[in-house]
Amino acid sequence: MTVAGGGGHASETMLAQGVIDELQRRVGAANVLTAEEDLIPYSYDGTAALRQMPGCVVFPSKTQDVSEVLRFANASKIPVVTRGSGTGLSGGSLPSPDCIVLCMVKMRAILELDRANLTMLVEPGATTLQIADAAAGAGLFYPPDPGSMKISTIGGNVAENSGGLRGLKYGITRNYVMGLEVVLPDGEILWTGNKCVKDVAGYSLKDLFIGSEGTLGVITRVLLKLIPKPAAKKTMVATFAQMDRAAAAVSAVIAAHIIPCTLEFLDRTTIHCVEDYAKIGLPLDCEALLLMETDGHPAAVADEAARMEEICRQHGCVDVRVARDEAEGDKLANARRSAFSALARVAPTTILEDATVPRSELAAMIRFVEATAKKHRLRVGTFGHMGDGNLHPTFLTDERNTEEMERVEKALKEIFEEAIRLGGTITGEHGVGLAKKKFLPGFLGGASMRVTRELRRALDPNGILNPGKMFD
Ligand SMILES: Cc1cc2nc3c(=O)[nH]c(=O)nc-3n(C[C@H](O)[C@H](O)[C@H](O)COP(=O)(O)OP(=O)(O)OC[C@H]3O[C@@H](n4cnc5c(N)ncnc54)[C@H](O)[C@@H]3O)c2cc1C
Repeated sequence: MTVAGGGGHASETMLAQGVIDELQRRVGAANVLTAEEDLIPYSYDGTAALRQMPGCVVFPSKTQDVSEVLRFANASKIPVVTRGSGTGLSGGSLPSPDCIVLCMVKMRAILELDRANLTMLVEPGATTLQIADAAAGAGLFYPPDPGSMKISTIGGNVAENSGGLRGLKYGITRNYVMGLEVVLPDGEILWTGNKCVKDVAGYSLKDLFIGSEGTLGVITRVLLKLIPKPAAKKTMVATFAQMDRAAAAVSAVIAAHIIPCTLEFLDRTTIHCVEDYAKIGLPLDCEALLLMETDGHPAAVADEAARMEEICRQHGCVDVRVARDEAEGDKLANARRSAFSALARVAPTTILEDATVPRSELAAMIRFVEATAKKHRLRVGTFGHMGDGNLHPTFLTDERNTEEMERVEKALKEIFEEAIRLGGTITGEHGVGLAKKKFLPGFLGGASMRVTRELRRALDPNGILNPGKMFD
């Protein structure tokens, strides 16, 4: 469960002074935080109802610092929780009691932009936006764009295998990682991958670390693939009086062999909250809103935009608004990006989920979410990446109301079970972390779960990295 808002702190934790002295000796005293008031900001992530004070926070400046800290922690069997910007929505960077939080934000350099090979080598603390801007500055494009891209780090994106609004056409973080430097739990430094477009030598170790949620190693460098910047883009918003019609329009767009770069959905509750928050003139008299973007060669963009508009009209949309220019398009896209923040304003606690189903089951899943919320007398707003089948049912609640929270738990369990029944998954992009770990064994099944556990044991026999996350 992903919860934003409220929550009290678990009891304070302490590391022995000898441990602190040793860490300060290895990375410099200025790079180790120990005072309670300094540790509080690191005691939670985007999953705000979960709180745990760390033992200390360490800021490495280089790979060797990470190696030094892990070698010491492994020998002393002290848990280490790696952290980027702490925007995670499954409790992945929530500290363990008495742990060292390894906060990567000081390692944020863009080390190389290789125009001949279209690659970029970066440190893990670089933000997604920093990378996208650096690529754009060279006339190139780094497509993954999680809603949190202004602050999330590339290390966190790789560790969560994050997706974004452009996932439908361009894929997710995994599709842009060509190589990784990883420090293993015993401090050894490993490099996997290279600038070759093709490389099939040995197991694809980099793919093992992508999405490993800080449980197998600490990512200290990322080699990213860049692509040419699309020459043109068009953005449009279509509104529908019935959600089923919007879902049918999405299916028809895909069936017409159009793959928009963005195909996003907002339900009535979310539209109202976003409009109230961002005041961009969204139509309020509709059940569903589709945000669609197409990019590429100007002629192809014009053709696809016209066909998408036509498809929406054929499916009975109330209105289609095509952005006049890029600035208006960005404004409409930002409306979608602000959906979580907009919903988070209306209730003390916002529980954001990411149940995901095959595209063909979207309408059924959205109806199920609505019916489940009604059955349990809960307020829900749903938005998400319609083109990817990735929905964000967002419960608007109050964690101080324990009776209501029990109903939320029941509703979420039913939603995940239904997602799995429809051939979907328990998380499309936010990861398992603490929030979904109880659902993982049932979802993966016996053999996959056994191999998962054995991989973790092989890489981290002392279990120091992010213990208790993903599975026990
Ligand atoms: C408003 C909002 C919108 C969001 N939108 C999206 C979205 O559209 N798509 C999406 O996928 N997610 C989204 N998220 C979730 C979150 O932003 C992503 O998971 C993001 O990738 C986390 O990055 P971070 O730097 O904050 O990592 P953190 O939250 O600090 O850490 C996340 C996980 O990665 C591990 N980790 C971090 N750095 C490293 C490293 N260097 N080496 C190894 N492990 C590491 C941590 O241990 C933890 O398990 C959103 C969150 C918010 C708050």
